[in-house]
Order: sequence, then C-alpha cells, then structure tokens
Amino acid sequence: MTVGSALNKIRRAALSPRRSLGAISGKAMRQHSYWLGNGRSIPPASVCLFMTYRCNLRCKMCDLWGENGSRREGTPVSTRSTQEELSQKEIRTLVDDLASFKPKVTLFGGEPLFHGRTHEVLQCLRDRNIPTSIITNGVLLGAHFRQLVDLKVDEITISLDGPREVHDSIRGVQGTYDKAIAGIVATAEYKRRKHSAVPRLKVLYTISDMNFRHLNDFVKGLEGLQLDLVNFYHVMFVNEELLRRHNAVFMEAFGITSNSLRGFARDVSSRVGLDDLAEQISLIKTGNHRVPVEFLIDFTPEELRRYYTDFSFSPKSRCLVPWREVLILPDGSVSPCLDFIAGNVREESFLRIWNGPRFIHFRRTLKRLGKFPACNRCCLLYRD
Ligand code: SF4
Ligand code: SF4
Repeated sequence: MTVGSALNKIRRAALSPRRSLGAISGKAMRQHSYWLGNGRSIPPASVCLFMTYRCNLRCKMCDLWGENGSRREGTPVSTRSTQEELSQKEIRTLVDDLASFKPKVTLFGGEPLFHGRTHEVLQCLRDRNIPTSIITNGVLLGAHFRQLVDLKVDEITISLDGPREVHDSIRGVQGTYDKAIAGIVATAEYKRRKHSAVPRLKVLYTISDMNFRHLNDFVKGLEGLQLDLVNFYHVMFVNEELLRRHNAVFMEAFGITSNSLRGFARDVSSRVGLDDLAEQISLIKTGNHRVPVEFLIDFTPEELRRYYTDFSFSPKSRCLVPWREVLILPDGSVSPCLDFIAGNVREESFLRIWNGPRFIHFRRTLKRLGKFPACNRCCLLYRD
C-alpha cells in the first residue's frame, strides 16, 4: 500500500468507519493513523466516560480524594464545583454521536454508582447497541446489581485492594470489603438465575506501598467467587522532580501544567519492599489458583526493581493511547489525558473534537516526543 492510499483509507475511515473496518482491521488502521495520519485518527475504540468526580469513599492513594487529591478542599481544582456534570439531555446527544462508531464505553468516576442516573445512561447506550462496562468500588453494587444484569452491561470491574483488613484500611471505612464481596456474590447469583453470561465480573487490585505484601492472600480469599479475571497493576506515582520535568514539557508544548498529576505525588518507592513484592508476584504466577489472574504490567524482576527506583525507566518508548482512547470528563470536556482539554461536547460534536485542531496538536506533540516525562508511571503505556 502506498503512503497516499493508506492516508486516503484513514481519511475515509474518519468519515465512515464501518465501511472501512470491513477492509482493514481496527488495530492496523490505528497504526496507520499513528504513523501516517499527521495527528488525525480513526474514531476511538474506547471511551472512558467520567460520570462524576463525587465518591462515597476517601481512599488514601486516590488522585481525586486522597492525601494529595486534586478534588480535596483547599486544592486549586476543588474550587470548581464537583457537581458540575452533564445533564441527561446532554448525555443523550453525546451517545447519539458515539452511536455512529460504537466504541466500548466505560463508566468511571469518582464512583459512577454514586451518580444517581447511571442506569439511564446505560440504558441509553444499550438502546444504541454500544458495548458498556463500569468500574466501581463495589460498595453500592448490592443495591444496583439487578439493573446492571438486566441492562446487559458487558463488564463490571470492582476495585479491591487487599484482604479485608488491608482493603478497609486503604478505603478508610470499615465494611467496604464485605459490601463489595456481597455485591459480587449477589451479581453472580442473579446472572445464574437469569442464564446471563454478562456482566463479566473482574476485580482490579492496585499494587501500592499499602498492600504489596498481600497479593497472594488476596487471591486465596477470592476462591469460590464466580470471577472472570483478577487484574493487578501498579499504582501511578510521581515525585517532585518528575512533576517539575513533566510540567516544564507541558508548559512549553501546551501552555498548561498538569494539575491532576499532583494527586499521584506520593513516596511509594521507599515504602515498597521490592523483594517481598517480587516474591508475591512469583507466588501468584506459580500458584494453582482457580481464579484467572493477570498482571497489567508484566515486569521481569529486574524491570520491577528499576520501575520503583528509577523514574526515567520504562521499557516502552511511545504512547499510542490518544489514537484509540479518550476521556470525557463530568462537565463534558474531552481529554486525551493529563488535563489537556481538546474541546467540550456541550459546544461541539464529539467527532469534531476528536479530529479537531487541539486534539491533532496533542497527538503531533506526543508523536514527536514519543511520550511525556510522567508517562513511564502510567499503566496505559504498557497496554498494546
Ligand atoms: S473509590 Fe475510587 S474515586 Fe473513590 S476515593 Fe477511592 S480511589 Fe478515589
Ligand atoms: S502514557 Fe502518557 S500520554 Fe499515554 S495515556 Fe498515559 S499519561 Fe497519557
């Protein structure tokens, strides 16, 4: 294929993705977009829709509500209203836009089940045959599982960060582990009664300085639950030096600093016992668990040591995420990531923003640099 014909296919795909997808796979098209699209891309395969920043918990490591969280009172971002969210009418307009290319839409937050109208949004997505998933802390799952199963949500990911005592200590509220487990059990049982294969049930464990010794006990504690997958990934963390370097690059390229990154500024490196963590990972990998387990970042022991001790280390040299995924924030802002705002769905259609001048500028800059300084600690960098 010549460069010219590849570019034409990409341009046609941007206008009519369904026609072109028959001729060439989405992944290959995205690679073409990256290398030859000059900052443009075919519509995203995945949309993360932040329903709200509000949450019923205050986890210690949370970038929104944790120790350095960007939404905590007294921090600059919290002066904006956390209640500033898209109306149902605005969400319906957005969903109509997404229906033309049917990405997987993941509802996220904050806590999406705390939003109050999540079911209406899921129903709206379902009516247009858009695949859906939701990421939740699980506390409210017991009150919502029937609707989630009846709405045929494709996937529920429940965030659990340790065995009962460890999890509750991180969440800062006793009883949260038991509530989430009860929600999982009730969902699985209701699925069985309804003869439904969905929602698939996944658990996400964020490895941090507060739980790195408990991976194996955690998995053992899940035996007997009807789970489709347990995913482990490493918490994002930055230090002051990395923040400074990252913000200098962002200021030069985009004239902004990345406010939300400060929420990830925690001293994790010196608090994680790397021998203990490596042993836990090895126990999981060699163990005979009935629950399927996966590591989102599958480091060798040497890579693991460098990841936690050297902020410039990463085996990956470039990020392709803004060519395939996008964040839509509670107020309708569209962001490739890291606080860069490409537009707002209250003002323009999603697809105009996706290949609008600001998004194109972000992609061109990222492609030129390969990645930004903070990217080495972002789990998305490690997904193909
Ligand atoms: S449940 Fe999630 S959004 Fe809520 S405080 Fe914890 S990490 Fe943050
Ligand atoms: S690796 Fe960097 S550019 Fe890519 S999604 Fe993560 S923070 Fe954004």
